[in-house]
Amino acid sequence: MKKEKYLGVYVSTLNYDEIIADLKTRMAAGEKSTIIAVNPEKLIAAGKDESVKELINSATYQIPDGIGVVLASKLKGGSIKSRVTGIDMMERLIQFAAQENHRVFLYGAKEEVVKKAKENLEAKYPGLQIAGYSNGYVQDHEALVKKINDSGADILFVALGSPRQELWIKKYMNDLNVKVFQGVGGSFDVFAGHVKRAPKLFRNLGLEWFYRLITDPKRFKRQLALPHFLWKILFEKSSSSKA
Ligand code: UDP
Repeated sequence: MKKEKYLGVYVSTLNYDEIIADLKTRMAAGEKSTIIAVNPEKLIAAGKDESVKELINSATYQIPDGIGVVLASKLKGGSIKSRVTGIDMMERLIQFAAQENHRVFLYGAKEEVVKKAKENLEAKYPGLQIAGYSNGYVQDHEALVKKINDSGADILFVALGSPRQELWIKKYMNDLNVKVFQGVGGSFDVFAGHVKRAPKLFRNLGLEWFYRLITDPKRFKRQLALPHFLWKILFEKSSSSKA
């Protein structure tokens, strides 16, 4: 599979359609796949902690969620042209599940949030089978694994925030009969209508980060990761920029 490498971390160069097509083949072959969203903040964290790097690199698809990753690819002459965001990837998978009769399970967020996200998604995509859901605060993980397996789900979305959701997937994926695992952060809050995404104009201009900054100034510190990241990319040895 085509990948580029930034600061020692793989990033998939596939777009939404290519990932769905690839997943179809892998599902038919009975293979398990994991999707993890990468952004400059996670890449910087990976540089500081080898276990975070390994966790990201062990995923099947590291999708370029942040605009910073797209800029890094541009700076290094790579082929990533636009973002593949976690939330849009989730919605594409939901559409795919509705069309091809795959069962979906939602795990994470508060009880009222995950329940509402399920209802809204079912209303938007007729035919969608959300085979079960659980809030993200359950304590009995063995019982949860059983519940997911009993639901017959093929696609599991885990919304616990990072890196909690990725660590959970890694720990339990071998016990689950699920084929596709995606960590989706705060996406259930968006599908439940509790949190709004940036208007399309900002998203299309690659300025979602700016919208989030002006609506939630607390993010400023987190967003300092972007210039820091681009600086590091510029001075990274070119030998490690391509996988
Ligand atoms: N969450 C959860 N269980 C926990 C901690 C967090 O289900 O033990 C949920 C929380 O309710 C929220 C999501 O995880 O829905 C965190 O989203 P956030 O936006 O912090 O994640 P990010 O997208 O920044 O990784």
